[in-house]
Amino acid sequence: MTLTPLSSSELTELIHGLNRLAHNLWWTWNQEAQEIFQKLSPRAWQNLYHNAVAVLHEVSDMELRTRLQDPGFAQEVRSVLDQFEAYLQAPDTWAAEQASQLQEKPIAYFSAEFGLSETLPIAAGGLGVLAGDHAKSASDLGLPFVGISLFYRQGYFMQAINDENWQTEYYSMLNPKNLPMEPVLDAKGEPLTCMVQIATSQVRFKVWRVNVGRIPLYLMDTNLPENEELYRDLTMRVYGGDSSTRIMQEILLGVGGVRLLRALGIQPSTFHMNEGHAAFLTLELMREKLAAGATLEEATTRTRQECIFTTHTPVEAGHDRFTSDLIQYAAHKFSSDLGLTHDAFMDLGRVQAGDAQEPFCMTVLALKHSRAANGVSELHGQISRQMWQGLYPDRPVDEVPIGHITNGIHVAGWMKGPLRRFFRSKLGEGWDRDLNSPLFWQRLEDTDFVSDEELWALRANLRRELIEFARRRLLIQSQHLYRENFITYDNLLNPDALTIGFARRFATYKRAPLVFQQFERVVRLAKDQQRPVQFIFAGKAHPRDDEGKRFIQHIIHLSKHTELHGHLVFLENYDIHIARQMVSGCDVWLNNPRRPLEASGTSGQKTSAHGCLNMSIMDGWWREAYDGTNGFAIGGDHHPDRIEEQDRIDSENLYKVLEEEVINTFYNRDASGVPRQWIGKIRRAMSTITPEYSTWRMVQDYATQYYLTGQ
Ligand SMILES: *Cc1c(COP(=O)(O)O)cnc(C)c1O
Repeated sequence: MTLTPLSSSELTELIHGLNRLAHNLWWTWNQEAQEIFQKLSPRAWQNLYHNAVAVLHEVSDMELRTRLQDPGFAQEVRSVLDQFEAYLQAPDTWAAEQASQLQEKPIAYFSAEFGLSETLPIAAGGLGVLAGDHAKSASDLGLPFVGISLFYRQGYFMQAINDENWQTEYYSMLNPKNLPMEPVLDAKGEPLTCMVQIATSQVRFKVWRVNVGRIPLYLMDTNLPENEELYRDLTMRVYGGDSSTRIMQEILLGVGGVRLLRALGIQPSTFHMNEGHAAFLTLELMREKLAAGATLEEATTRTRQECIFTTHTPVEAGHDRFTSDLIQYAAHKFSSDLGLTHDAFMDLGRVQAGDAQEPFCMTVLALKHSRAANGVSELHGQISRQMWQGLYPDRPVDEVPIGHITNGIHVAGWMKGPLRRFFRSKLGEGWDRDLNSPLFWQRLEDTDFVSDEELWALRANLRRELIEFARRRLLIQSQHLYRENFITYDNLLNPDALTIGFARRFATYKRAPLVFQQFERVVRLAKDQQRPVQFIFAGKAHPRDDEGKRFIQHIIHLSKHTELHGHLVFLENYDIHIARQMVSGCDVWLNNPRRPLEASGTSGQKTSAHGCLNMSIMDGWWREAYDGTNGFAIGGDHHPDRIEEQDRIDSENLYKVLEEEVINTFYNRDASGVPRQWIGKIRRAMSTITPEYSTWRMVQDYATQYYLTGQ
């Protein structure tokens, strides 16, 4: 067969299509699309950290036209573009059938952070990653949905460890031109801007649009020359500055977000506040209604009807509280808008009305102005009902109106290459059509569908990829972190050893160093010649959390200067990319928070599709997911009140599970070297956990329990 060269207009069309594709984060959950950008320039793909837009800038128009003259490559591009268009146009989505009444009235989902891809680092951790996964699944489900957040020009901090093993923070400037985002324009083709009042200033902001599959995410940005410098830098960093920056960012998020939606002509049916950060939006909704002639009472009732609220943590410090002075200074406009005295306004954010000692709490504001509220796991729902009972003095704890929807993850977005290729080889083209169906995952329990040997080979492949990734990273880090040791990096970590991963924010309640508490014991396990165990750690401490930084310092010290050297490593600068390597390559995912402080946790949910098993305290999502066959439980469904007691018991239980169950099962091999029992657990984890703890299930729960009930 002879192929006629592509015409100039066909080439132009493909190039146009590639640009459209690069500017839609859909490619982050489509392997074939990623491969196209990777093939265009493997080196740029690596160096620019998997950034499709930047890769396209790297390849000249002339080169692109030439490369597309390769019929095989042109065919790949065309096929991905067809898939992409088909995705965008699909008429038969879940929401088209189940939530058609939302068609013209989307859900507006407000979140201070969105974690969508390592190329757009505008999230601090789990809350943002959850928001990103929520948006991706809303797109997959065809739910009418818009995301609202801020564009942080310097993103979240990057972590570098200094000579004292101390975390230091640095920032780099994001360049919108090299990111999958476009300025939002007004009718005249000029950049759209809106205003909010903060303190006594009128602050103007512009807006960026990020396409997440079918849905738009709007990011507000105050970096405009006409703003005072203080406000120009307001959106510089995720949770940057002090509580004064915080309240100002939150005014922008809440009030600015509503104004933006109005300017875009979007009439949401529900405003979903992901955490209290966005709760000022309720006040803007009330102001609008007052301006249209409603009484305060009517405005409050109708605003409640429009809003729902998800609370994300039992940790006190995780709930923003602002002093009366700060409210007076930064947010006095609200009380005049609503016709309230300062004290009456403060009461909107207080559990005890009239208690002058009580600061203004964003969670309280959100709870008072939502038609429904929820925690993010069953236990967290219970804890939240206790925590906020004071707001509902005439109700018993059980009747406090806070429900729960357990968090999940966007499965397609978290699946690593070898796993996708594994399924493609089993199921052929269109292998991922039913990815979110429980039936897809139940097949993993069937030895005719996949043998133990195949699963074990997949595990070895994924572990190898992680270890090589870690070695590469350690070499780069070594410029400071491991400098004084002459390490041959290719001997660090053992590709055959039981690999335990721990990666999360270094908040102290997560107790990163717990497994090292009985040091001799853990050294013995690590150095066992026949049955070695090794540890990979990663995570950032909040810039002002010295205790968290001491945990990091301690762990790095152990990795460099003790017998654990070579069996324990710390990877710098934890982010979505490192998370993907670790949740896929580790054999065991360690989670040992102080109960009940891990509201849900999501990193462990990313592991099960890859055949990594959870070993976790019975907190958050794991308390619901663990069924005795699909992983390992540390301790039971209870905890002592005293922290010291809890730490002691949990550490003892941790070693017990590790020594008696985990290591034994992992190293219990048959004549062909296959750990049959371990693989049995992997099959159970894949089939019971993956479809249930997904945002596909979670967003449907939000839709049916909360989004649709307001209609
Ligand atoms: C999934 C994820 C988290 C959340 O993990 P937890 O289990 O909730 O601690 C945090 N950061 C990144 C980069 C993630 O990918």
